Amino acid sequence: MTKTGKKLTPMMERYLEVKSQNPGTLLLFRMGDFYELFHEDAEIAARILGITLTSRDKSSSNPVPMAGFPHHSLDSYLYKLIHAGYRASICDQVEDPKKAKGMVKREVTRVVTPGTLTDDALLDPHENNFLASIYFGKSDIGLAWLELSTGRFLTSNTTAEHLVDELARIHPAECIFAEGNTALQNAIGHLDTMLTERPSWSFAQDECESRLLEHFGTKTLEGFNLEQGTPSITAAGALLEYVQETQKSSIPHINHIEPYERGDRLLIDEATRRSLELTRTIREGKREGSLISVLDETVTSMGARLLTDWIANPLTSLSEILRRHDSVEELSQNPVLCSEVRDQLAKTYDLQRLTARIATGRASARDLSFLAQTLALLPMLKAKLSGRKSELLQQLEAGIDLCAEVRSDIETMIIEDPPLTLNEGGVIRPGFSEELDELRLLSKGGKEWIAGYRNEEAERIGIPNLKVGYNKVFGYYLEVSAAHAAKVPEHYIRKQTLKNQERYITPELKEYEEKVLKAEERAIELEQTMFNDLRERVAKEAPRTQQTAEILAQIDVLFGLAHLAMHAGYTRPEMTEEPVLDIRESRHPVLDRLQPSGEFVPNDVLLGDPYGRVQIITGPNMAGKSTYIRQAALLTLMAQIGSFIPASEARIGIADRIFARVGASDELSKGQSTFMVEMTEAARILNSASERSLVILDEIGRGTSTYDGISLAWSMTEFLHDQIKARTLFATHYHELTELTQTLKQASNWNVAVHEQDGEIVFLHKIVEGSANKSYGIHVARLAGIPDQVIQRANQILSTLEKDHIDDSGQTTIPPRPQKKSSHQQLSLFGNTQHPVLDEIRDLNVDEMTPLAALEELYRIREQLN
Ligand code: ADP
Ligand code: MG
Repeated sequence: MTKTGKKLTPMMERYLEVKSQNPGTLLLFRMGDFYELFHEDAEIAARILGITLTSRDKSSSNPVPMAGFPHHSLDSYLYKLIHAGYRASICDQVEDPKKAKGMVKREVTRVVTPGTLTDDALLDPHENNFLASIYFGKSDIGLAWLELSTGRFLTSNTTAEHLVDELARIHPAECIFAEGNTALQNAIGHLDTMLTERPSWSFAQDECESRLLEHFGTKTLEGFNLEQGTPSITAAGALLEYVQETQKSSIPHINHIEPYERGDRLLIDEATRRSLELTRTIREGKREGSLISVLDETVTSMGARLLTDWIANPLTSLSEILRRHDSVEELSQNPVLCSEVRDQLAKTYDLQRLTARIATGRASARDLSFLAQTLALLPMLKAKLSGRKSELLQQLEAGIDLCAEVRSDIETMIIEDPPLTLNEGGVIRPGFSEELDELRLLSKGGKEWIAGYRNEEAERIGIPNLKVGYNKVFGYYLEVSAAHAAKVPEHYIRKQTLKNQERYITPELKEYEEKVLKAEERAIELEQTMFNDLRERVAKEAPRTQQTAEILAQIDVLFGLAHLAMHAGYTRPEMTEEPVLDIRESRHPVLDRLQPSGEFVPNDVLLGDPYGRVQIITGPNMAGKSTYIRQAALLTLMAQIGSFIPASEARIGIADRIFARVGASDELSKGQSTFMVEMTEAARILNSASERSLVILDEIGRGTSTYDGISLAWSMTEFLHDQIKARTLFATHYHELTELTQTLKQASNWNVAVHEQDGEIVFLHKIVEGSANKSYGIHVARLAGIPDQVIQRANQILSTLEKDHIDDSGQTTIPPRPQKKSSHQQLSLFGNTQHPVLDEIRDLNVDEMTPLAALEELYRIREQLN
């Protein structure tokens, strides 16, 4: 009953029932050829999808808002809903409407959420799509993450301190956690991931463990190297439950779970990951312009996803790194092999996601045909790889399972280019099944009989333009034009009168029609059964095709790195356990690619014995300091994933961690980074870096007043130098810090060479030893468009500062201003345009700041505007 007391139709009753069983999702309710949404869902869908909002029951006083789209457009509309941050339940008709007695039965067949996507149409082929689960144990936090479209399932235990870094590394599309954990929501809310609360019973420890045991069909989890009772098991169990609930199908391709070993991986925290722009740029959040966009020369989507994984998890084991370098070296010396193999790889389909679709029973005939086509490429690939010298390539070659029976099973049964659906049949090869061939003959024979019958009738009754047609309502019919209507024999039964035609059926026609249709129907049913059997047989081999898929991905990444090394002129770095960096004529991998060839000025990076552990790099803004220090970090990271690097030669000491921090005023990522954030991040470095770490600091201390900032930067550098002994690159425009080298033995000054002529300066982008003799800040401010009056005044203050430094009271003796205007003098440098940054400028109270600080502030804002 509705509020108005009107009785609901059975359909709407079913709708409301299903809706209440699937809270938190948009319900797409199949009605005929459409998916419909009602009430609030309809309003949301209309807004996001741009479809028309109408209403059901328009005449009543209480119409129900409604919106819908044709069922065949489901994928494209789902894509938009999911990417707009919604979950959707798909409610389908689960019985044939033709056979249904009464209302057609409807059930939710799957729930689609960002972390549980499996359809190619909804997934980015080049990106992993992880679902993560977080469980707070007594002391540790359990994490589990799954790529449903490939079946990769991992777990680890972590601490509150590392949780955000871990999640940033995994980069899940969706995270599940027990309801009511607002602390967690606050902690990870800024990550680009959908947060899904689950009932707390879903995280019950014992049930979680038995759920995993039942799924994997094992008695213990020790075989997977999982320790009993750890929080990660609970997280994994809850994750599995969520997947089972949303998929509503079996998930046999998830056939193992691995503990993630952090020990032999280079640790990169969230801030560093972001600041080094490994997979996304800071400003625009795009892949283009990030490290991966340069490194990715893969030709398959499996390879592209694995490369993302390698970049997120660089190695720290010398022997592991050498194995990859050996392979890349061998391949890069063999360009012919390289291009032949890459040509073959490019023809493969996404074996990982195909396998998962087959295992979950969602694969089409076309998918099986793609699988066979991919398997058909393996013998050639294996042959090309045989006889390689490097150990890793030998291992990969040996691991390729040709799955020959699977391939021949599919090839003998499925036609070459099968249709997408089984609805019309025509998927199974002629000659494969006698029974099927007979049925097909019968249906074909029937059709031939009908054609012959038309010819006979046309002649017999003298209607040359007599036509045969077919429609769903009354099947085969004969069509007579109005002009000949008088000639129609009496036993013809009229079914329909159109403007210029009449349509008739005859008993003979009906008799054959039934033969045709029956045969056709049985043929299709038979094809479906045979196809399902085949799919089940192939699904049983999923572990084998999955293993081969993983190997193809590795081969693709290694060949891609070799290709890159050859074409971008990279060299093999020598790796060592000693904490050194000795990279000659190195280039920034991304800028080198973006700038016209030859324009990037190569630089040496010399750190560790005998050059000293700490470099202080000074120089004016825009000189190239940030570029230089990032370059050092990126090249170290590239070497540790197994890549060659843009340099003439290099000796790289393996880092256990890389830290990159950017001073508050330089970091624009989230719009408003504060000094507090800057200091929190700096604190983490000082608390967790080791002698084997590489630390790059960019303008740290800039988010506060000059003297505060200098003092903090000063003491942090001392600490890194004396206590931690990490290799450190510190870029700063605080010229004062160059004096540190007088007391710190392992610290040295470097600066960016500048050519000065007639008051104009040219940046040479060359890093040279020694400290910069001037900061040129005011000069840069002039280039940036700061009014002359401000520049002149700044120059005046600067010369006083340089002469006097600070007086006894701690105050600078700034000369008085030439004239004083209103106390709330506003800077109208940028006119009256609407812009958040401009508001910030208008709010600046220049009188309360030192002129130098005001100038700095202005320059900072000006930078933000550019
Ligand atoms: P800083 O940190 O000193 O202010 P950046 O490192 O941000 O300067 O560099 C400013 C710009 O100078 C870069 O965007 C780049 O275009 C250019 N640049 C930096 N280093 C080089 C180099 N080695 N060769 C060529 N151009 C460079
Ligand atoms: Mg900089």
